[in-house]
Amino acid sequence: MTTPAPAKRRLSALAALVLSVAATAAPGLSMPASGKTSWDYAGQNGPTRWSELDPAFETCGRGRTQSPVDIADRVTRGGTPLEIDYKPTPQRIVNNGHTIQLDYAPGSTLSVAGRTFHLLQVHFHSPSEHEIAGERYPMEVHFVNRAADGTLAVLAVLVERGEANPTFARILDDAPGKGEVRVARNGATIDASGLLPKVTGHYTLIGSLTTPPCTEGVAWYILEHPVAFSSDQIEAFRTFYPNNARPLQPLNGRTVLRN
Ligand SMILES: [Zn+2]
Repeated sequence: MTTPAPAKRRLSALAALVLSVAATAAPGLSMPASGKTSWDYAGQNGPTRWSELDPAFETCGRGRTQSPVDIADRVTRGGTPLEIDYKPTPQRIVNNGHTIQLDYAPGSTLSVAGRTFHLLQVHFHSPSEHEIAGERYPMEVHFVNRAADGTLAVLAVLVERGEANPTFARILDDAPGKGEVRVARNGATIDASGLLPKVTGHYTLIGSLTTPPCTEGVAWYILEHPVAFSSDQIEAFRTFYPNNARPLQPLNGRTVLRN
């Protein structure tokens, strides 16, 4: 691809400050411990090689509770309802070389069975990483939350083609180039709850990060109902990342609860 950007990606109306990711590494998952080892979604540094790229990535190959999975077998009624309390946050968008990410300031929470997780960041994959009964979706949104003891909970929302989503439109309009962070300077805020469907029935299982170092013990909450993005929005994301989905991993006997 030699054209710099499609005409659709107009310049943002927001006054924005662009910084390099390295200079402003945010807490959260955008910079894993072994951030120096490069990895990719295809080729020599692709998913089947992740575990060989760095000793810290060993779990990507040896782990028995890896993500993503196909939600099809071993689904049982259970789990508890989610209480999602996501609020607007000052707009700060990172292009970390693997995805486009909206960083979140403290104050937004996901609560499950009396346990509270704080939203750290929201990012995107295309195509979807999880499948439902063998069906892959055009995209998937991950809301990464962390409890006080460090336990991670990821809320996953599958994306189907439909109407344009206004929140995703703003993220696309202000997404910076690889390795850059764009911070809105006029105090503009953005609300990630605009990326959620209205119904929050979900599947839950224990899995892992879907990027190196593939750390296990992550609580996954995969919403049953997708959210809609337009075909133009999905294509616009793919101009940044045409394929940033890890292949499916085996369930290895895990049970999936459906609430
Ligand atoms: Zn993700």
